[in-house]
Amino acid sequence: MENISPSSINSLMNLIEGASRPVIVTHMKPDGDAIGSSLAMYHFLRMSGKNDSCIVLNDRYPRYLEFLIDEEARKAIRIHSENADEAIEAIRLSDLIICLDFNAFHRTENLCQALAGSTVPKILIDHHLNPDAECFTLCFSETEVSSASELLYHILMAVPTIKGNASDLPSEAADALMTGMTTDTNNFGNSVFPSTLKMASELLDAGIDRYRILDYLYNHHSENRLRLMGHMMKDLLTITDDGVAYIVLDRNTQDTYGIEDGDTEGFVNMPLSIEDVRMSILIKEDSDRLRVSVRSKRGTSANRCARMYFNGGGHENAAGGRLRIPEDIASVKEAGKYIETHTHRYFNQDNPDNEE
Ligand code: 5GP
Ligand code: MN
Repeated sequence: MENISPSSINSLMNLIEGASRPVIVTHMKPDGDAIGSSLAMYHFLRMSGKNDSCIVLNDRYPRYLEFLIDEEARKAIRIHSENADEAIEAIRLSDLIICLDFNAFHRTENLCQALAGSTVPKILIDHHLNPDAECFTLCFSETEVSSASELLYHILMAVPTIKGNASDLPSEAADALMTGMTTDTNNFGNSVFPSTLKMASELLDAGIDRYRILDYLYNHHSENRLRLMGHMMKDLLTITDDGVAYIVLDRNTQDTYGIEDGDTEGFVNMPLSIEDVRMSILIKEDSDRLRVSVRSKRGTSANRCARMYFNGGGHENAAGGRLRIPEDIASVKEAGKYIETHTHRYFNQDNPDNEE
């Protein structure tokens, strides 16, 4: 991993040692990798004697990740959507900002201004394409890894206090890193590199209880979530002649099934199991906009499609974005037509891959 060198690790440790109030931030609507990498960094900072660090989130973590959060960590989390002043104040008072699992400040939504306005040193640890490197004092950016959690694992293995021994990681950090890697790879279904298996193997060797993690991640859902999945796949799924599968989940349907953030995690991948589908799009109606998730099979770029039509981006085969109402689209009712028109253009006119 080219970013991880004795000199970058030395710089990282110097920045951490020089800080007394480090703040950890991650992207809006945090998922398993965002929360996993943030908690692992939090526990590493505690182990390094930093007892005044905190994690600032734009939105609350999903319920299925609560098992990772102990009492100490819970007290150290500030959530902007629940107490904006407290979250911004934490950033304002910090003397080191550690950014995990995102590549540009705008991905933190309402924390963006405070981050951009802060003059303290900033560290980036991320696995997305095209990081805003000039915004950071120290940048660990690697796209050939499964997750930010995996990248952080390899960084921590290189620090002098751990010396490559996974059993010297705080156990909470080991669980959090395994969780983040597991959710970003869909439990080893995608984005798995030799280094990913090495990490998993070393963590298992160190004695972590992977079955406990899998049980919390996959066996603690609500009944409604499974019933909504059935409704979506049976009644809401459309497949276009271009091989695009899409589902629009409006607010009313989310309310009917009592759906919370995180409950639809993984649903967007399912239509890719159909042979003729090359791209899958899930649109979820939020308060004043539509959130878009895009997944694609090899040979089709979800990232490019999200950048071109959905004000977003991400990875080659897993990306996301948004449609603003009314700037991009008049209402959620137009979403199906928008997807059909734009993906048709993508596969027939706008896609440079077509010319190869
Ligand atoms: P998800 O569909 O799970 O929300 O996101 C899939 C991937 O796309 C993640 O790697 C996420 O970071 C990225 N992504 C999601 N929404 C956006 C967005 O609005 N902008 C950018 N640049 N990336 C996004
Ligand atoms: Mn990630």
